[in-house]
Amino acid sequence: MSKTIFAVPPIKNNTGYAQATQNRQAQYFKDDTFIYPVVPAYFASMLMAEQGQEFLWLDGVAEKLTEKEFAKVIVDMKPDYIVLEANTMVVDRYIQIVNTLKESISDIKIIFTGEHYTAMPEDVESRCNADHYIKGGKWYNEAFKIVTGKDWVGDLPIINRDITRWWLYAYKNGNFKYTPATYTMAAQDCWYRPKQACTFCTWVHYHPDNKITEVELFLLEVESMINFGFKEFFDDSGTFPVGKWLKEFCEKMISRGYNEHIVWGCNMRFGALQPGELKLMREAGCRFILWGFESSNQRTLDKLSKGYKVKDMLTDLDNSSSVGIWNHLTVMYGYPWESLEAEKATCSEVKRLLLEDKAASAQATVFMPYPGTKAYKECEEQGIILHKNWEQWDMAHPVIKLKYPFEEVIKLQKETYDVSYKPKFIWNKIKKIRNIDDFRFYFRLSKKVVDRFGTILNKPGAGING
Ligand code: SF4
Repeated sequence: MSKTIFAVPPIKNNTGYAQATQNRQAQYFKDDTFIYPVVPAYFASMLMAEQGQEFLWLDGVAEKLTEKEFAKVIVDMKPDYIVLEANTMVVDRYIQIVNTLKESISDIKIIFTGEHYTAMPEDVESRCNADHYIKGGKWYNEAFKIVTGKDWVGDLPIINRDITRWWLYAYKNGNFKYTPATYTMAAQDCWYRPKQACTFCTWVHYHPDNKITEVELFLLEVESMINFGFKEFFDDSGTFPVGKWLKEFCEKMISRGYNEHIVWGCNMRFGALQPGELKLMREAGCRFILWGFESSNQRTLDKLSKGYKVKDMLTDLDNSSSVGIWNHLTVMYGYPWESLEAEKATCSEVKRLLLEDKAASAQATVFMPYPGTKAYKECEEQGIILHKNWEQWDMAHPVIKLKYPFEEVIKLQKETYDVSYKPKFIWNKIKKIRNIDDFRFYFRLSKKVVDRFGTILNKPGAGING
């Protein structure tokens, strides 16, 4: 029998908490947006399916623990194993924590995983005293074997949401309208990536293949969420499966009546869906689509290897909004090849889409060439990476040389969010208020904008995730 902790250390600075779990673009948020980490949740559920395993889910960020409280839980439990998953922004602090734990608790075994280790194993191993290192996003298989001494056989289990403390993530995420809500991953992770990959995609090496859950198994997960009482789920596959899978999923959501009990959202690529498919998704309960908008500049989309045209984006937004789906755009500023004028043109286009109600919300982040990505290699080759002080790879500090001052990136972010104060934008929302759920949702979103603005104004660089 073993005692295992999956741990997220409580890392905080004066702009907020580190968003370290399942956030493909790491940053600090002032407001509570804790994303339910599905991959570690699979690991926890696999262990719980084994006789005699003890497990603790210790998310120091979502629980808002102090470092002292976090350490006390570990000391009191005396686990055999601690599993940590680190991205680039938090890797230095995680290494310090691992080394301190190894010095303080002699028998503890530490399993170190994450995007940063996968991309730069030598950077981590040269200064970290962990006992085991695992590359890749499907680390749960190897971690399970280390802890239990056995291979996991068969499909992944239905996620055990109690052991993973679902309530920490169920209420305050802007991607949810109805709560309690949770996250799933129908695929790990994106069907576009095995053939081609967006140059900035942090999960290129993390999930190089795409493993799609069978429709029936995924529907079992949906059924279990309904029985649990969840009202909404957001599927965080890099891109939600399309084609035959999507059709079967939607038709069965409708024929089994699941769409009457739960709504859902997903990440989607432009140019991947037909108008009829968007309509079917809506009927099947799809409320929200998070589109990787990135830029309205075709040259930039091509440089990012996005694989679609600006006109595809506009067509999809039209079709999606016309069937009543909430379009959420993710836009980035701070591309090293763009002039300030080109960046401003993207900002104007996003504002236009928001004011014309083609998009219902947007998040503005900073282009980050994280280690492991093609963008990182390109920036290295061009000699435009300013430093490798990973703690400052937090979207609040410049990391690459731009054609204009970094402060302009922050202004563009702020300008994007300023749309939410425009009377036309507010009217677009007010006219859709039908019930108390709508009212509560808009109130929660506007509070998030205000909280996040505080972050941006105090220290630049945060963005809104829904
Ligand atoms: S579509 Fe999204 S998840 Fe897929 S490769 Fe591009 S950025 Fe990554």
